[in-house]
Amino acid sequence: MKLTIIANWKCNPSTLKEAKKLFSLIKERAKNSSKEIIICPPFIYLLPLISCKNKPKNLKLGAQNCFFKEGPFTGEISPLMLRNLGVDYVILGHSERRKLAEKDEMINEKVKAALKSKLKVILCIGETDEERKLGKTFEILKFQLEKDLFEISENQLKNILLAYEPVWAIGTKNPCQVEDLKKVVIFLKSINKKFKILYGGSVNKENFSQYLKVKDISGLLVGGASLNHNEFLAMIS
Ligand code: PEP
Repeated sequence: MKLTIIANWKCNPSTLKEAKKLFSLIKERAKNSSKEIIICPPFIYLLPLISCKNKPKNLKLGAQNCFFKEGPFTGEISPLMLRNLGVDYVILGHSERRKLAEKDEMINEKVKAALKSKLKVILCIGETDEERKLGKTFEILKFQLEKDLFEISENQLKNILLAYEPVWAIGTKNPCQVEDLKKVVIFLKSINKKFKILYGGSVNKENFSQYLKVKDISGLLVGGASLNHNEFLAMIS
C-alpha cells in the first residue's frame, strides 16, 4: 500500500516566493520518495505551483476547501474550477472551517459536488476536547460520517481519504496516543472496511513514524510541521 502524506499549509506562507521555494524543495525530495505527497496551499498559490516544471507523478496539489455550486456566490471557488486548473484533491470538513460555522449538511453538499467534478476528497473528522472527556469520541465520529457521507456510494469511497483529526490535537503539540489511534482505526473500519484512514494532529518528524506503523493507517495529514522543510522532508523521505 502506498502511504500518503498531506501538507496543509493553512493560511501560509505570506509570499508566493516562499511558497515556490518550499514547493521546489519538496518536489526534489518527492522524486526519490515511494509515498504519495499532496500539497494543499492557499488557493492563490495553486496555479503557480501546478505550473512548476518536472513534477514527479507522486506529487499532487490539493485545495483547502471549495464551495458546492457555481454562480452568484461571491468569494467562493467551485470544485469544477479547481479540477479544470489541474487540482487533484480538496480538503473538506477541516475543524478550522467547522469552527467558522460550517455544518455537516454543507460538508456533505461539498463532498458530493467535489466528487462529481472528479476531485478526490480528504474528509476531516474528529471530536473536540470536551467531547473526548465526555467519552463521546465514537459517537461524534459516527455522527459526522453519517452526515458528511450521506448518499455517498460504496464505489465513491475509493476517492475519499478519511483524516481522523482530533480537534484537541490540532496545532497543540499534544498528539493522539498511538494506542488511542488504534482504537479509533478499528472503530472506523468496523463502520466500513473500505475507509482509507489517515491521522492528523501535531504530527512532526519525531513522532510521524509511529503513526505510519499503525495497522490500516494509510498516511498522515500534517499542518504546522509541513511549513518547515526540515520537518516535512524527513516525513516524505
Ligand atoms: C491540520 O491542520 O490539519 C493539522 C493536522 O495541523 P497540525 O499538524 O499543526 O496539528
